[in-house]
Amino acid sequence: MMRNQEYTQEVVNLHTHSFYCGHGSGTVEEYVQAASEHGLALLGMSEHCPVPDGRWHRSRMDYSQIESYEHDCQTAKETAPGGLSVLTGYECDYLPEYQNYYEEVAERVDYLICAIHDLSTDLNHEYSVFWNQLSKKDLVTYTDMYCASLSSGLFLFGAHPDLFGYYYHQWDREAEACSRAIIACAITNNVALEINANGMRKRKVQLEEGWRHPYPLSPFWEIASEYPLQVVTNSDAHNPSLIKEGYEACAQIASENNLQFCSYRVEREQTGTACITLV
Ligand SMILES: [Zn+2]
Ligand SMILES: [Zn+2]
Repeated sequence: MMRNQEYTQEVVNLHTHSFYCGHGSGTVEEYVQAASEHGLALLGMSEHCPVPDGRWHRSRMDYSQIESYEHDCQTAKETAPGGLSVLTGYECDYLPEYQNYYEEVAERVDYLICAIHDLSTDLNHEYSVFWNQLSKKDLVTYTDMYCASLSSGLFLFGAHPDLFGYYYHQWDREAEACSRAIIACAITNNVALEINANGMRKRKVQLEEGWRHPYPLSPFWEIASEYPLQVVTNSDAHNPSLIKEGYEACAQIASENNLQFCSYRVEREQTGTACITLV
């Protein structure tokens, strides 16, 4: 038997991180508790996905912890209070060489989301967008990598596509062109893009014209309104207490820019895995 259900953004958080990633806190069980207290109907855990060669290990669980994490999610699915559905997911940094690996992961879990946090393709040398001023060339690299991930067919939505704003501080022709490329690519591949609240919890960026959040970037979402883009929002919580934090501010960014949040349709198969589509 298949059970179908639709969920609006107000009652969903599919972007959450627990103690497993090393820079977050709280257990999966505590997330279930928090989700229930905040009236969520659909909670997805999306830990940063480890890869077999250990790349990006500073920002995620060890590859050997995968089983334990997925087991915790499975337990949460079975024990969550009525009215709350739990999904197992991962946030994946994408490189084409991990395509097959992520396809295998996707078969085991309910959904994957993508993000680009690191611009290096060298296993032994990270180039994090959180630690480096981005040049115009870096911005193009970010865009190419982001578009490759959107084109992979693996992901439900792209997380914080405007993350480049963290260290690319000017809004210029390049920023606009890259934003348009990412948005167009998302539409072509039927992948949603996320207005991410976590950027509003980070230290503000000082520009000549004043201070702004590192992301979400207003001009990015202003451009998005020119396109039939599917938009979602999440708190990107790294602590259970932040499970719904920033929802209203993100909803305001959406409404200011004439964007409408899409909903999710979740079809549950007998095996227990869920198939999620955008509606
Ligand atoms: Zn994180
Ligand atoms: Zn995240």
